[in-house]
Amino acid sequence: MTVIGAGTIGLSTAVTLAAGGHEVTVIDPAPASGSTYHAGGMLAPAAEVVYQQDPLFPLMQAAGQWYPELVELVAQHTDVPTGHQAHGTLVVAADRADAQHLGELMDYQVAHGMTVEQITTRQARTQEPALSPRLAGAVSIPGDHQVFPRQFAAAMQDAAGNLGVRFITETAEEIAGASVVLGSGETVDAEQIVLANGLGAASVRGWYEDRMPLQLRPVYGDILRLSVPKPLQPLVTKVIRGFVEDRPIYVIPREDGTVAIGATSREDGRAEPRVSGVHELLRDAIRVVPGVEECDLVEASAGARPGTPDDLPYLGRVNEHVVVSTGYFRHGILLTALAAKVTREIIEGVQPSVDIVACSPERHTREGINHERDR
Ligand SMILES: Cc1cc2nc3c(=O)[nH]c(=O)nc-3n(C[C@H](O)[C@H](O)[C@H](O)COP(=O)(O)OP(=O)(O)OC[C@H]3O[C@@H](n4cnc5c(N)ncnc54)[C@H](O)[C@@H]3O)c2cc1C
Repeated sequence: MTVIGAGTIGLSTAVTLAAGGHEVTVIDPAPASGSTYHAGGMLAPAAEVVYQQDPLFPLMQAAGQWYPELVELVAQHTDVPTGHQAHGTLVVAADRADAQHLGELMDYQVAHGMTVEQITTRQARTQEPALSPRLAGAVSIPGDHQVFPRQFAAAMQDAAGNLGVRFITETAEEIAGASVVLGSGETVDAEQIVLANGLGAASVRGWYEDRMPLQLRPVYGDILRLSVPKPLQPLVTKVIRGFVEDRPIYVIPREDGTVAIGATSREDGRAEPRVSGVHELLRDAIRVVPGVEECDLVEASAGARPGTPDDLPYLGRVNEHVVVSTGYFRHGILLTALAAKVTREIIEGVQPSVDIVACSPERHTREGINHERDR
């Protein structure tokens, strides 16, 4: 069994397969250096709801339910902390228009069976005293949690090693039948290959006929890491999400006394953090949590989310040797629990625990599009 890519998706898949008794090799020149390295790590099946993306909801909800199982599995095989926190999420509105938006979103979430509770801004401030006294609305989402993606990736990598997974720090160039051709020209034989290398999946040749079926695009996000001065720790204990003049913002507390503030969304092809993005994030975060102004800025970075045309991942078998698992876009840290479990089920020939028909890796080929139109 060979997994190409050691981001959150490849690592969780490798751990799950290895724990299931499979012999696993992982190929990646720079494990956990992609989108996973930059991600905020919100596990937010409810708060991340986007209008008209109904096919995503059951996938996100299943992943949220399965997350504790994945975290426990990893923790059984490593002493490296997983960085998982289940303290819940508060979503707040900066002004009246934001409060109206928040109320409408809450109605939509409740209509889709999600547990979201309206609370007063006073109640929100009782839970999180660092919140601004000038907020216009608040809701509590107790089931939306978080994980520190870098920490979790380190824990999964260690767990994988302890489970006997072999790591090859090279680039996969091509899949030729039941083997993977590396950048060095060497080959790795594997009866089953999982293509789980994020945006890089579209540059691995050999597993499709004439036309690459995956339509992946980088959607960049600027994100910041701040160190909270000791007297202010913890600045917040839950994930704080906010709407500020219709712009989304989040503040995520980490166990190491830092907070993450994110994230912008842009498709301008610029891989470095933009000054405008850093400015916007700090301005909006200070509006929601004024104490952010007292913190030290320790990092500004930008990551590329692996986007797809319909925001759904590409997950499924494409031939007798290859399973594709990529395109997790904005939700890859959350969906990693689903990716790992379902990939193992596909490999073992078991009916997937969740319907993944909408995730077919071939749905954007001409044939796939015609088929959709004919239905
Ligand atoms: C700013 C930001 C904030 C985010 N916040 C959240 C969040 O709060 N919650 C959430 O659920 N998601 C979030 N995401 C999205 C999430 O980060 C991604 O969906 C997820 O990390 C995708 O994981 P992946 O393993 O598929 O890809 P990646 O993490 O990009 O990993 C791909 C790996 O493949 C390797 N690779 C590439 N090409 C090859 C090759 N040819 N051969 C071998 N290896 C190769 C790379 O070195 C890399 O290690 C965020 C993303 C960004 C940028």
